[in-house]
Amino acid sequence: MDLFDWVFGVVGFSLPWALVYFLVTTHITFVAITLYLHRHSAHRSLDLHPVLCHFFRFVLWMSTGMITKEWTAIHRKHHAKTETDEDPHSPVIHGLNSILLQGAEYYRDAIDEETIRRYGKGTPDDWIERNVYSKYAWQGVTALLFIDIALFGIFGVVIWALQMIWTPFWGAGVVNGIGHAIGYRNFESPDNSRNIFPIGIFLCGEELHNNHHTYPNSARFAVKPWEFDIGWFYIRILSYFKLARPVHTQPVVTTVSGKSSIDMDTLWAVINDRFRVMSTYARQVVHPTIKQERQGADSYFRKLLRRGRKVMSAHEGVLHERDKNHIRQITKRSPALKRIYELRLSLNAIWAKRSGNADEMLTQFRTWCLEAEETGLEHLRYFVQDLRTYTVPKRT
Ligand SMILES: [Zn+2]
Ligand SMILES: [Zn+2]
Repeated sequence: MDLFDWVFGVVGFSLPWALVYFLVTTHITFVAITLYLHRHSAHRSLDLHPVLCHFFRFVLWMSTGMITKEWTAIHRKHHAKTETDEDPHSPVIHGLNSILLQGAEYYRDAIDEETIRRYGKGTPDDWIERNVYSKYAWQGVTALLFIDIALFGIFGVVIWALQMIWTPFWGAGVVNGIGHAIGYRNFESPDNSRNIFPIGIFLCGEELHNNHHTYPNSARFAVKPWEFDIGWFYIRILSYFKLARPVHTQPVVTTVSGKSSIDMDTLWAVINDRFRVMSTYARQVVHPTIKQERQGADSYFRKLLRRGRKVMSAHEGVLHERDKNHIRQITKRSPALKRIYELRLSLNAIWAKRSGNADEMLTQFRTWCLEAEETGLEHLRYFVQDLRTYTVPKRT
């Protein structure tokens, strides 16, 4: 390379090429984060061929300087302590703007010895990890700076700076911030997780964060037919070439038409699918009953009921005091909604404090179903009828 190349780079100052290069490199970094760090290392939901693991580790070293053990530990802690004071990055606790704009700082601040020891187990500890990736964590991104300059000259410094900002902003800021603040929920998981957007291309499927918190051990993040997880699309391609193998996907529950007996399999199927069951309860029981109650209600009660749809369907763990107050006002006025809400809480309580005694839980579940049917409320009766058809699929 002569002086001209160093100033203008081998490719030269070309905006289209710079853009293509930038988008491709940052996308590969995201693929490495979601497939290797997230689904493979933190959740063990995906097996990857050792060659692919090494490739992703090298990509992450070159593009982020993040260490697998640290990322894995912080992320597992996030799942273990979601929306509590100990959550490394909760917008519910720290505020959305803080996580959005300083997500990477929260990530770095959360790295401590105790967290790494407790949550970082089973991560790479081979020669290259000890002597290169962990020891010289920031030399990889420095090498990337020189590559960018070699390709695009002085303009390469700008590209490099954008690469350094891009991934932490979208990963640590948007997924951790927006993913727990704004978006839609498919499931009533006991946290504030949201699906940011149903088409997960830009963040490689990490957009589907409520689905992921509901089924953290699943290698596939899309659940609804209209949702798309490009990370899963890549997994399918890699699986075809025997480079990847999904260990878990979402819990499989089957239903047997006409089945009305409640046995242990019914109970396990319902527990496995409990967040989906609770969102079905909202859709099939809470919302239609609210609609019924709106008929003939005065304007003040109608206003109360409008907001009631959301708060009466949410997991009690994510409710603020004002939400609970709101529910109290509604249930004081409507005996039907009061009963429905009490039953919602008691259904949740069956698996919330799992004592480990399966027979006891089964008895509680059967009693719950009978109580729900005895209310005489039509929506509840249909809901229980559906629940009775649940079972776990027979292994062949
Ligand atoms: Zn989360
Ligand atoms: Zn996760």
